Amino acid sequence: MKDLSKILEYQELDIELRKIDNEFNKNSDKKKLDTVKNDFNAVQKEFTASVSEAEALAKEIEQVYADARASEKRIDELEKAFNSAADDTAKAALLPAMETEKSKLDSYKNKVTNKIDKIRKLLAACSQKQHEKKSIKTEFDKIKAMLEKQLATIQPEREKIKSRMRELRDAADKELMDFYLKYRKDGAPPVFVKARVSGDDYTCYCGMQLSSSSTGKLKSDKMCRCDTCRRIVYID
Ligand SMILES: [Zn+2]
Repeated sequence: MKDLSKILEYQELDIELRKIDNEFNKNSDKKKLDTVKNDFNAVQKEFTASVSEAEALAKEIEQVYADARASEKRIDELEKAFNSAADDTAKAALLPAMETEKSKLDSYKNKVTNKIDKIRKLLAACSQKQHEKKSIKTEFDKIKAMLEKQLATIQPEREKIKSRMRELRDAADKELMDFYLKYRKDGAPPVFVKARVSGDDYTCYCGMQLSSSSTGKLKSDKMCRCDTCRRIVYID
């Protein structure tokens, strides 16, 4: 028959530690810190998006410049041809192409102006975001310092529990401890539960009555697995 005392003490401490941590997470500045962290990340995301957009626009401007240079070159060629044309008919024949090219050049100029304007606005937004990030960071640091102070008040108790848990982990029955740790990871504690006895009925922590074979095992081995929730049910 296995001795459950160490594993039960371990379980009790584990639940206590969890309770301390839950209380801390619920009541401390941790929630505030999470909120501020999310705020920062949201601003950071916007900032990165604005920078990418500005970079994309800058690339587009390069392309428009290249188009504008080609257009200017074409206009030069047309003007040369115009000036050296043999007669008025030849000159007149060149005019539509010159007009088209000139209006193209104008549209390139407008495109560049528009894009530069957009970049300016994006950069202004970026600078605004930088300020926001800075002030959020200040807030973050403030809350973090407060949180560390709060954590320091519960830390000695946590350490005491954890150190005793380490001792128990080494001292307890390995098979039971492995089972506990595995079950604890999958579900909520407690893992080892005392049977509720009423006459000949044995009921698990989960509220379900044990089968007759489990009850038989419980009586002979002092422990068994619950048929429903798979916890280990024990009796003194
Ligand atoms: Zn059960």
